[in-house]
Parts: sequence; structure tokens; C-alpha cells
Amino acid sequence: MFGPPVPTLFFTPPGGKRPCRRPCYDRTVTAPAPSYRVFARKYRPRRFDEVIGQEHIVRALSRAIAKDRIGQAYLLVGPRGVGKTTTARIIAKSMNCEQGPTAEPCLECGPCLEIERGNDLDVIEIDGASNNGVDDVRAIRDAVATRPMRDRRKIYIIDEVQRLSGQAFDALLKTLEEPPSHAMFLFATTDPHKIPDTIVSRCQMFEFRRLREVDVRAKLEYVCQAEGIEVEAEVLHAIARGCRGGMRDAESMLDQLLAGTEDRVTLDELESLAGLARPERWLALFEAVAADQPQALLGEIAAFLERGGTERDFVEQAVDALRDLLHVALLGEDALGVEPAPERRERMMALARDLGRDRLEALLGMMFQLESRMQRSPLGARALLEWTMLRASRLGQMLDLIGVMNGDVAPVARVQAAPPAPKHQAAPVPAPEPVSAPAATPEPEPEPAATPEPEPELASGAEPVTLPLLLQQLERKRPTLHATIERNFTRGELLDDGVVVHLSTPNAMDRDLLEDPVEIAALARLEGSPGPWRLAIQEAEVTKPDPVVELLLEGFDGQEELP
Ligand SMILES: [Zn+2]
Repeated sequence: MFGPPVPTLFFTPPGGKRPCRRPCYDRTVTAPAPSYRVFARKYRPRRFDEVIGQEHIVRALSRAIAKDRIGQAYLLVGPRGVGKTTTARIIAKSMNCEQGPTAEPCLECGPCLEIERGNDLDVIEIDGASNNGVDDVRAIRDAVATRPMRDRRKIYIIDEVQRLSGQAFDALLKTLEEPPSHAMFLFATTDPHKIPDTIVSRCQMFEFRRLREVDVRAKLEYVCQAEGIEVEAEVLHAIARGCRGGMRDAESMLDQLLAGTEDRVTLDELESLAGLARPERWLALFEAVAADQPQALLGEIAAFLERGGTERDFVEQAVDALRDLLHVALLGEDALGVEPAPERRERMMALARDLGRDRLEALLGMMFQLESRMQRSPLGARALLEWTMLRASRLGQMLDLIGVMNGDVAPVARVQAAPPAPKHQAAPVPAPEPVSAPAATPEPEPEPAATPEPEPELASGAEPVTLPLLLQQLERKRPTLHATIERNFTRGELLDDGVVVHLSTPNAMDRDLLEDPVEIAALARLEGSPGPWRLAIQEAEVTKPDPVVELLLEGFDGQEELP
């Protein structure tokens, strides 16, 4: 694993008198000045205004420091690599800077520089993962009592504090109950639930967020610029996405890429080094899913794994790709965001249209299910993956079937015939590579895990269909639509080839629902329905409503009582 080295552990025996149980590491000796520093360290924020994406925390802390209302114990909570330890160090500098306490430490005085280098004797960083015993904490407790050697405060930064043992927490609690006024504790954790409430309640808690993709990208751009290296915008985008909100991971990935290439970094290099598949690959794969081309599909999966990605990587990246497609299906071209090449733009639009909202949502669901299944059977990961994707490619047929049986799932892509959906001409699906794997593929039995059980009521074929019966069925299957129809219902007719329902003038919200083609299509799929439904809405012109009443009704989302 690539990344900044774990900070070395050190306990300073109080006054240097108490013999240390563990080897004491003198950092001035063990930390050689490296000629090359990884980006995550080189570009680590030094002041509050350089901390990215945690504005809420920076604001609160700066204010507390400026007003001299800083607490003695803080709990910094958040996923890894988002700036918890960095922030802890900045707090330490703020408190101990010779010009301080100040929210803007000078970065030049002894304490500022030593805290940054990690060798300030009064700022002690401890890795909770490896120093989690009760003796370790007792050592801290004893040391806390002595005054700081030089700085204003004696500050303990304990990383991964959730890893302390129960006894260690007990010992820590005693210190936290009555800390000496010069002491300060900064705890960082990825998992606050593992910390006893008694500890948490004595800390002020700050929750760090995952960083937004744009923020990560901006920082990466900055690093590239500062280093004078050229990296394609799409590469930075892919890294920013691949790191899932962790800046340290993103910087490490960039580091790794640059170490392995000459001068220009391209998507190809990212793919071979970091296992992040190019966006086109996902297009090809889901085009194979859309067209139910098992050979091409298995070929894409095999190629992904051969390039060094794991099955889990596959699921992770597939989810991202599907999410993109779903956004395009729902929001149109605007959702494409980062400028993909025009050719890929069109392919994405066509694919999103082909798959449609329902299928994309169902595919996402299958991916999540696949993820949890993989955790339970890591050995069969590849077979599971292939099996799921093969099933996914038959999802269109399944959805239709479910729709017919249930009336629950409306295959939007087919129903919304209104906007002309140009059939996208056979996309350049890569030549299917010969795959040897399918032998391992389990029989794609149609296990209806995600499929709602067909209701047993189907059997009652003897009973003649009536409108009230259809409406009863509707109430079970689409309660909102049923309630809306009921609210506005004046009369209805069951015809040989369909149903006509007359409705009074609905309010705006009801109207949206009643005019939604997906809802109307769902009516036609009710068991026993003779054909399409027509919802005849009484228009309002006849009786001019009182504008005041209308306004009130709108404002309170009410309906007028009908006689
Ligand atoms: Zn300073």
C-alpha cells in the first residue's frame, strides 16, 4: 500500500526519569529528511484556510480559538484521509504558536515548525491502533500531569482512538474527568460507535465529511500545476471519483501514477496502474447488457479482471457507471457534467435511453445485492459476478414479465413512447473474445430475489371483472394513485376494450400524477383490465373557482369538499 508512513509512536517519559516500557523512538534519528515526499505530505494543509471541504469545522474552530473558548477534548470523526489528523495538527499549532493562541498560526516559530515536523516535545501523537493497552494510557495519564516543557499546552493527538481497549478507556476517562488546565486531547476516529459514551460525552465532536469530487479534483489540479506536470482532465476526474472522497487516497494514486510514467499521464496509464477501467469500457459492457449479448459481456468482465481489477473493484466502478447513466436517463444531457468526448456523449445518451430508468434502477439494485453476496462467498466471486451480469442482461425480459404479473413495475423506456426514442444503431461492441470461463458459470436459474412474489389472487379467474374490483386491486398495488383517483372520482365505465374514468378538476399535484403516462400505463396492467385506461378530467372553465379559495387550497394542499 502506498501512502504516508504511519507516524512513529513515542512516549516521553515524564521528565525523562521514568523508564519507558517500550522502546522510545527518538524521531530526530528515525525520521530521516526524505529527499522525496509523497504528495499527501508535501501538500498537506498547514493552516485552517487550506483545509478543503470541511468549512463547517474550520469555521467553528477558528471562532472558538479567536474567542478563547477552546475546549480540552475534541473528537474528530470521519472517514480516512479527509483531514482529521491534519486538522488536529493545525489546532495544536494554533494553541502553541508563539503568536497565539491564534486561528492563524505563524508557521515560522519553533512550536509551529516542530509540530509540522512532528517533533514538538509537548505535542504528542499516538497511534491508538498499536498503543491500545491500559499501560499505554496510564503512561499518558502520568505524563499529562507534568507541565509542558516549552509550549503553552501539552497536547495529545490520539489517532484511531476507537482501538483502545476497554481498560485503556477507563484509564483515559479518569484523565478526561479532571484534566490539568495545560492539557488538551485531540482524538481522531473513523468509527465513533466503538468509543464509550462516557468518553464521547466529555469531548466536543466534529464530523468530517467525505470530500466532494470537485474539491478533490481542484486540489489535484493544484498539485499538478505546482509540480509542473501535465495530466489529462479526464484522468484527474477519474482519480477524484475513484478515491471516494478521501484526499489522501487521491494524492497517493496520483503519486503512484507519476512514479510509473514518463511525463504525460493518460487514461490508459491510470487503467493499467490503478485498475480504474476507462469509461468506454463501461459503455461497452452495459451496451452488451442492454442488447443481451452474453459473449461480449463475459469478454468485458474477463478483460477487466485480466487488467488487474478485482471483482469488488468491478462492482464499485459499475455502480458509478450506472449512476451516471441513471442521471442521464432522468436529467438528460445536462447530467453528463465533465466534458466527455462527443462520441462518448452520444453513446451514453443512447445507452441511457435504451436501458431506461426502471432497468437502470434495477441494475443498481442488483449490484448492491451482488456486493453483499460477494462478502459472504469470496471464493465464488467471479462466478457470482458473471451470473449476476448475465441475469442483468435479461432484465428487460424479466421486467416485462413482472410488469405483466404485478402491474407494479412500469418499464418506462417502453411506455414513454411520447418522446421519440431513436433506436441507437448497434453500438461498436468489441469483438467478443473467446472466453473459457463460462463453464464455471452457475446455471442462471431465475432466482427471483429482487422479484416481488406474484400475488396469489391471479387464480380467481372465475369472478367477473368489475371497476370496483379493479380499483380494489389498484389500492393494494399503487395506493397513492388509487387515493388520487378516489379523491377526484365522479364516475367510471368498464368498456370492452378499456376503461374510462371521469374525474373532477384535480389540484395541481393530483393532476401531475393523473397525467403521468407511467401511472396510466400501470392501470392498463391491472389483472383483468380490458385495455388502456382513459382518465377524463373535468376542466375548470365551467365553474370559475373563487381565486381566494383556490389559493387557500393550493397553499394548504387541500381539496374542496365535493357534494
Ligand atoms: Zn507560530
